[in-house]
Amino acid sequence: MNLKESIIELAHSIGISKIGFTTADDFSYLEKSLRLAVEEGRNSGFEHKNIEERIQPRLSLASAKTIISIAVAYPHKLKQQPQKTAYKRGKFTPNSWGLDYHYVLQDKLDRLARGIEELTADFEYKGMVDTGALVDTAVAQRAGIGFIGKNGLVISKEYGSYMFLGELITNLEIEPDQAVDYGCGDCNRCVEACPTSCLIGDGTMNARRCLSFQTQDKGMMDLEFRKKIKTVIYGCDICQICCPYNRGLDNPLATDIDPELAHPELIPFIELSNGQFKEKFGMVAGSWRGKNILQRNAIIALANANDRSAIPKLLEIIETSQNQIHIATAIWSLGELIREVTPDLVDLLTSLKKPSPAIIEERERFFQKFQHQISHN
Ligand code: SF4
Ligand code: SF4
Repeated sequence: MNLKESIIELAHSIGISKIGFTTADDFSYLEKSLRLAVEEGRNSGFEHKNIEERIQPRLSLASAKTIISIAVAYPHKLKQQPQKTAYKRGKFTPNSWGLDYHYVLQDKLDRLARGIEELTADFEYKGMVDTGALVDTAVAQRAGIGFIGKNGLVISKEYGSYMFLGELITNLEIEPDQAVDYGCGDCNRCVEACPTSCLIGDGTMNARRCLSFQTQDKGMMDLEFRKKIKTVIYGCDICQICCPYNRGLDNPLATDIDPELAHPELIPFIELSNGQFKEKFGMVAGSWRGKNILQRNAIIALANANDRSAIPKLLEIIETSQNQIHIATAIWSLGELIREVTPDLVDLLTSLKKPSPAIIEERERFFQKFQHQISHN
């Protein structure tokens, strides 16, 4: 068995679903589109900033010769549904079910690197998971893991696009794999299904308009996105659900999944303290931006779930919360759920102490919406 075959066998023994090999040559062809995305303000801001490092693997590892790309598949359907309770539930998208994939991938990359160290002397490497310099999808595409679809994701015939990607830049000399042929053809489903029309159609997108970014961005969520997130409090995977390559898949578990955390009850979620949030959700990928942003999304989700039983909770937030974004968002949600505005409610909204600009804006919007009722009170 040669080194490549031994590494492939090792990878499968530690639960890596797919492995591919490519050269450490520059990804020069990406430069133009990466620079254009910056110029046009289409980046989310979560990307690695240095474009040279994004396209030149040898800036990360001077001795680089081969990049090993790994993919770990994950399921997109819950095997077990959460219990039925009186509460409406929100959703984390499948890439945030179970233990944070950064830990899952990092663990597999570490074990792969340790295993390769035993196979060959003088092994040098640099591992990357998601937040590394290289563009994971470009590496995976060139290493033959799959093709990059119009939704910007790497799609393999075995696991669709439900794969976590990572890579090891190494000093090994290994025969590279062939890239996979582009497979979208005439299909345009994801581009048409995207609720914010942020997919450009060439595998790139306006990341700032992507709902997944919107659920992770701080501050007020722009009005145009609020209804579009429906009851998702982290992520968006509409452009995956609609993809024919993902149909009928039953990917293996990458980590244990607690359905109560994948689809949490919205009101109890909003009530979580910092400590409770950290204890319950601290190890899921979606928690990385912190509790307040996800609770803001949950407040929006209550309105989108048409949960009128949440009205007292929204009033409580408006009256007692210290978080100006939560108060302003709760005013919007309240406006979506109530049918009648009482003089007490008008008093409550007008007597809010030191309202932030966001609260003032939402309160104005609320008063305008119910102008007719208020003028008759
Ligand atoms: S994740 Fe959602 S919003 Fe983002 S590109 Fe896909 S469908 Fe559009
Ligand atoms: S939905 Fe169609 S166009 Fe979009 S990634 Fe899948 S195959 Fe390609």
